This record gives sequence, C-alpha cells and structure tokens, in this order.
Amino acid sequence: MATKPIDRLMFTQGGVCFFCNSPLSKANASVEHLVPVSRAGSNSDENCVACCKAVNALFGSMSLKEKIGVILKQKGHFVCPSKASANSQPVDTSEVLPKMPVTPKVPTSQKVDHYTAVLADLKKRGASRPRKMETLRNTIRSVVKQAKGSLSEAQLDTLVKHLQANGKIQLDGIKVSYSLT
Ligand SMILES: [Zn+2]
Repeated sequence: MATKPIDRLMFTQGGVCFFCNSPLSKANASVEHLVPVSRAGSNSDENCVACCKAVNALFGSMSLKEKIGVILKQKGHFVCPSKASANSQPVDTSEVLPKMPVTPKVPTSQKVDHYTAVLADLKKRGASRPRKMETLRNTIRSVVKQAKGSLSEAQLDTLVKHLQANGKIQLDGIKVSYSLT
C-alpha cells in the first residue's frame, strides 16, 4: 500500500510542524505547498511540507517569498497562529500580510542563498561530509560565517529542515547521510 503524502512528510519531519517545530497531531496536520498550486507549484514531496492547519490557512496562496517574509518577521522562534493566539500574542492576518513590502534591507533571498551555499559546500566535500548532526550544524555555521552572513539557531533549524524536506539529507538518530546528486 502506498504511503499517503501527509504520512510520508510527517515521518521525514520527525512528527513536528515544518514551521513551528511543535509536535503535530494527525488531526491538526495538513499538507502545505511551498510554491502554491495556484502558482504552478508541484504536488511532489520536494514542494510539500506537513504543518499546522492554521498556518496553512494563513499562508493561503501566498508566494514562497511572502511566506518567508512572514516567517522572518516573527520575533524569535516562529509560532503558528493558533498557538500564538493562546500566548496572548494574537496574530492578526492583516498584521502579517502587509500591503507594503517587508523590510527591504533584509532580502528574503538571503536564507535561500545560505541554503545554496551550504548545499554547494556539502557537495564539494565529497566523502568528508559531516557524519553527525552536530558536526553538520557546525559546518553550516562556518559556511554562513565565511559568506559573512549570520544565522540564528532557529534559522539553522529551518535550513536543516529544508535539507531534510528536500531529501538532501537523511537523519538516523544523530547520524546524517546525504543524497546530493
Ligand atoms: Zn505549526
């Protein structure tokens, strides 16, 4: 029997929401298309993540750029809207969906560039890629540092999750393996 996309995604994400890292119950899980279907995003696992229903609804048919903008605008660790409102920090959609472009001085492409740089570095390393999660995290930190960038722990988590969600790395406990080609 074929695995359902949502089950597959939940498994590869370790059972937590792609965006807020909270444990995700099946009842509250939904499949979010990073590039929305309305913008020709594909249905493949490459383009899909499992996340809280509330954040999926919030993102609607925003472009990937807009979504990254929303995430980057959050103070500290990203929390999906349903949990944010329980924390006396109501997220009003009109607040996170500004009509004006958000903070143009921090290009949203920055994170994508880090991702690309990290991927290129890992490819270059060949057989000497970090075998453990902690070493991989250190490698990512140093790649970003070399690019004169900065990366918060939360952004580092997100970058690792992206690598995982895109099938570039597989985790087995603290061990990491790669499918970079
Ligand atoms: Zn969430």
